Amino acid sequence: MLHRRRFLQLGSLGLTSFSFAGFRSAGAARKPIVISTWDTGIAANAAAWQVLRNGGRALDAVEKGVMVTEASQNCCVGLGANPDRDGFVTLDSCIMDEHANCGSVAFLERIKHPVSVARRVMEKTPHVMLVGSGAQQFAVAEGFPLEPQVLSPEADKAYKNWLLKSEYKPVINIENSKNQTAYAPTRFENGEWNHDTIGMVAMDAQGNLSGSCTTSGMGFKMRGRLGDSPIIGAGLFVDNEVGAATATGQGEDVIRICGSHLVVELMRQGHSPENACKKAVERIIRIKGNKAKDIQVGFIAINKQGEYGGYCIQKGFNFAVCYADDKNFLVDGKYIL
Ligand code: ASP
Repeated sequence: MLHRRRFLQLGSLGLTSFSFAGFRSAGAARKPIVISTWDTGIAANAAAWQVLRNGGRALDAVEKGVMVTEASQNCCVGLGANPDRDGFVTLDSCIMDEHANCGSVAFLERIKHPVSVARRVMEKTPHVMLVGSGAQQFAVAEGFPLEPQVLSPEADKAYKNWLLKSEYKPVINIENSKNQTAYAPTRFENGEWNHDTIGMVAMDAQGNLSGSCTTSGMGFKMRGRLGDSPIIGAGLFVDNEVGAATATGQGEDVIRICGSHLVVELMRQGHSPENACKKAVERIIRIKGNKAKDIQVGFIAINKQGEYGGYCIQKGFNFAVCYADDKNFLVDGKYIL
């Protein structure tokens, strides 16, 4: 009954044909393919697709793709995003390739493309993760320009508005109050909610997988707070034998279950991408109990067969799927609550 009701809800949006776990290709894997979180994923996928359609590497595709979102002032990813409670935009990002090489930056300020810095960490240092002033110092040494420390006009407005209502003190889960939901939407602008993160996973024509994830984190977070997005295994995980997954939503709860790694391991056990995402979401709900209704988490995943899927806690999450010049479309995430 419940399933039927959700089917009808999706049908009324004209999305039924794309709202299943993906496709089961009978023979060869569907590739190349790229998927990414939220509606901003459409533009990001388009950029990634240009790399993939020309035989390029999935790693290049997932970097190029999310750079579009990072550069967009119209989105809560990148320097135009909402600041922390002290008024500073701090960015987190990671990237992972088919050889389990990975790089990450977190608490990075004044750098436009954290994903590219994460890639440099991966390629040019013996480390996986750099944070804060060290990450910024590395970025500058690598030739990334230091951008001015100013809020975008929309973020400035949103921050001033937030300051009116909020006391400056570290209240755990203040984000869960009615006025400031912790999960993805953080700013109302031009009549539409924006989102804080883009996670992208792709398989190239050679059948190799890579992924990226980049975010400004939760709007008005405590200074120094990191979510799941820069953490390999939480916000992103790639295993070239199995598949790749990424997450969005309340990062604390994704970290608690090593979410993206869990999704990939579930696919290794034979679950489809959609079912693996669903099981990870169910685990969060089991842990949170009746507090699960206050948060949103969404996972998306692809496997080596080019099947894709996504699942979230509650209605409102979508993701973009692209596997041909004329196939770049939004899928409504199925949800549990
Ligand atoms: N996962 C991100 C974080 O917790 C936020 C988001 O995806 O909206 O920082």
